[in-house]
Amino acid sequence: MQTAEKQITGLAFTGEDFTPENVELTIENGIITDIIPSRAKAERCILPAFFNSHIHTGDTAALDTPADRPLKELVAPPDGLKHRILRMTPEESILKGMKNSIAYMKLRGTLGFADFREGGVHGAELLERAADPEMYTIILGRDGGEHHPASAGLGLSSAHGTVEEKQAADKVRRAGKLLFVHAGEGKTTDIDAAFDLRPDVIIHGTNFRDADIRRAADEDIAVAVCPRSNWTLHVASSRNNPPVRKLLEAGVPLLLGTDNVMFVSPDMFAECAFLINVYDVTPEDALRAATAGFSFAGEKTGIEKGKPANLTIIEGIGLFEWSRHPLKTALVRVGAAAVTEVISSKRQNSSL
Ligand SMILES: [Zn+2]
Repeated sequence: MQTAEKQITGLAFTGEDFTPENVELTIENGIITDIIPSRAKAERCILPAFFNSHIHTGDTAALDTPADRPLKELVAPPDGLKHRILRMTPEESILKGMKNSIAYMKLRGTLGFADFREGGVHGAELLERAADPEMYTIILGRDGGEHHPASAGLGLSSAHGTVEEKQAADKVRRAGKLLFVHAGEGKTTDIDAAFDLRPDVIIHGTNFRDADIRRAADEDIAVAVCPRSNWTLHVASSRNNPPVRKLLEAGVPLLLGTDNVMFVSPDMFAECAFLINVYDVTPEDALRAATAGFSFAGEKTGIEKGKPANLTIIEGIGLFEWSRHPLKTALVRVGAAAVTEVISSKRQNSSL
């Protein structure tokens, strides 16, 4: 067995609370084996790598299509604009686009993602081919794609309360797989049907009412919010949609995603900055939401002894000399452009 060992010093955001500490980390075989205080002047920041909890990499092929019509006409299957573009796009272009977006994410400190993959079994297969072995890829298929061996479960486009949906949900449950479902994005009428499927994760919750927030908390259903997508697709125009602060106050497990690549860049620094600045979420809560998705890949997250080393290294430490809140500075001001290295526990070191 390989026994690669690596030391790295810097200002690390450690533990559950992301406490900034000047440390030397030791990584062995992909695990953080030691964290000791360092007196050396910190020249870099060490962040836990992001997990993008909701993305559609397949629509990279429709990049920067104007969001010039109602949500349904843009993205709803089977004939929304997105689906018509996907049908017209050669398979190799879809594959190349997905690879491109996956590489883009990694360069910006994301080492895992949960992808709603259209295109049935074949769509799941394509994403399996596009996947980066250093990244945690959760494939959520549909139209049969959920049963592909590489697929982690079902990603339902929306819930209507039909028998077919219930059967599809029961089938993935029996297979021990995951169920994620879009709900409450542009309306409220699909929310109850989504909850009734007992999903692991509801995507969006943009129009959640107080009763929906309580139900998510009571039933321990995580909500993956995608605020930049909501604003871009004109389903949100205030910090109350999605009701992120209320979700956090109610104890709902909060996840963060970037949604359709065709409309929004899969840059989790930018998503965190939006959550912090527009939704008045603390940098710590934003980073927690931006990393919590690792649990669905069966992986722990955070900078602590014994945990896997999935880390993002950023330079730009000069700015931290004046910072009153280093984590906020890292997420909001320094951001993706300063990433110099990502370290994956799946394959131990990847220099950019
Ligand atoms: Zn989506």
